[in-house]
Amino acid sequence: MAEKRQLSETEKQKVLDQHERRCFVDGEPIPEDESIEFHHIKPFSSGGPTNLDNIAPVCKRHHRTIGTMSLQEYRDKIELEAFFEGGEPKFLDDLIRHKKRCCGERVKCEIEEGHISLYYKDSRHDFPLYACPTTNWKYFYGTLPVEFIGNDRELQPRPLREPNLWKLYRHFQTNTQISPSICRIDESGTLLLFDGQHKAAAQIWAGHSMIECKVYIDPDRRLLKETNLDAHGAYRQMSFYSHELMQKYADIFGEDWIEYMDTKGEKSELGFYNFLFHAKRKTWAQARNEIALAMYNEIVDDESNKLSRYLSEKQRGRKQPLTFARLKKTLFQYMLVPPPVKDEFESDTDFRKDEKCNLVKLMTIIAEEGLEGKWAPVRADAGHKKAERIFSAGAVRAWTILLRDAINIHLKNYTDEERKLFFYRAIPDEEFDYFRRFVKKIFDHKIWDDPDPSGEIAARLAKDDAATAKSLFDEKELTVQWVLGI
Ligand SMILES: [Zn+2]
Repeated sequence: MAEKRQLSETEKQKVLDQHERRCFVDGEPIPEDESIEFHHIKPFSSGGPTNLDNIAPVCKRHHRTIGTMSLQEYRDKIELEAFFEGGEPKFLDDLIRHKKRCCGERVKCEIEEGHISLYYKDSRHDFPLYACPTTNWKYFYGTLPVEFIGNDRELQPRPLREPNLWKLYRHFQTNTQISPSICRIDESGTLLLFDGQHKAAAQIWAGHSMIECKVYIDPDRRLLKETNLDAHGAYRQMSFYSHELMQKYADIFGEDWIEYMDTKGEKSELGFYNFLFHAKRKTWAQARNEIALAMYNEIVDDESNKLSRYLSEKQRGRKQPLTFARLKKTLFQYMLVPPPVKDEFESDTDFRKDEKCNLVKLMTIIAEEGLEGKWAPVRADAGHKKAERIFSAGAVRAWTILLRDAINIHLKNYTDEERKLFFYRAIPDEEFDYFRRFVKKIFDHKIWDDPDPSGEIAARLAKDDAATAKSLFDEKELTVQWVLGI
């Protein structure tokens, strides 16, 4: 390893010239009167040499916060924080797309006696095939291009966790990867990674374009799923609680959840919240946000939830009317009881499951009445433009509140406490016929058709606060009384 040494003034000047006196972290120019620090781009500790190509200038502000990181690490850290900003769940697919523009590309493959040939980067790559002596599943080992890898949502439903990812990223700056990530490849040539996703993600974040994999060829998915669950045996303990939300918690919180489940006494959201604070040293806000995120994901991931199909995060490739962040500020904020509730999991007073089902049903109604057959960004006809107005930022906020108030009145929730619980109760199916009527009525209001050549109405609906749109609703007589027909 090269010796760490001081730079001479001439060398410093060379580095400055090369970087045009710009801070390496964000590319901003460093003022003439400001002192300059010099840092290694690749870490000195992992063999980055002290030659001038590996040195760059840094402004004072970034120098103060860079700590022991190298410049490349620091840039990657800032980019990682931006990637996770907003708290929306991020999956391996998102990360690959972020780094590579594309992800899950199909790879052409041919299997012959004893080996598999994959075609990528304009050439053929052969790998010897092995067979598992127990299941007879065929598999191979390969170091494969990142853009051909996709996330196996079926076997690996967990989103990436920023702290785990960062820890592994740092780890791989100085350590080798001992075992490969595990994938499967199906008949169509889709390569899906289901185990070791943080490991893979950390390598990709560090700029690697090839990932070490063990790949099963078209295995029995059901068996593989069971095997995978067994391998993470601890998750099995959760079978005590059958609720899917429990599974979601296990998926998202991993070890923290298992540890909490091993504590004595009855289990509840409130208990877990306290556990995260006391034993895990999370802030109250972190604990609350993490629990809320688990709830939100469960609702969005529900297959019967038709509104999820209109989320940018779930359906890429064309413009969508909603984002996860907008749902957080609208339906989730106004129609879910914020965590933590104190009811024991799956006891008679725990209505989280009902609450989820109720909201999924309502979201489906919203999709059916407001978007299905209407949302068509390519056609961009009158129906689509109307849908766009209905789903503009402030409008969604205002009609969510309107719809909630109408439903509360309809359900005769008179006290504040009753209103606050909202969907946190069992609601018979036939009530949803009324809710559908309310949704229809709101979406049929003339406010959405108004051609308004000045664009003033559209602008007021788009402003991302409830009050602006609400004042417009009032002017145009789109009120709770009108929705309820009273
Ligand atoms: Zn800087």
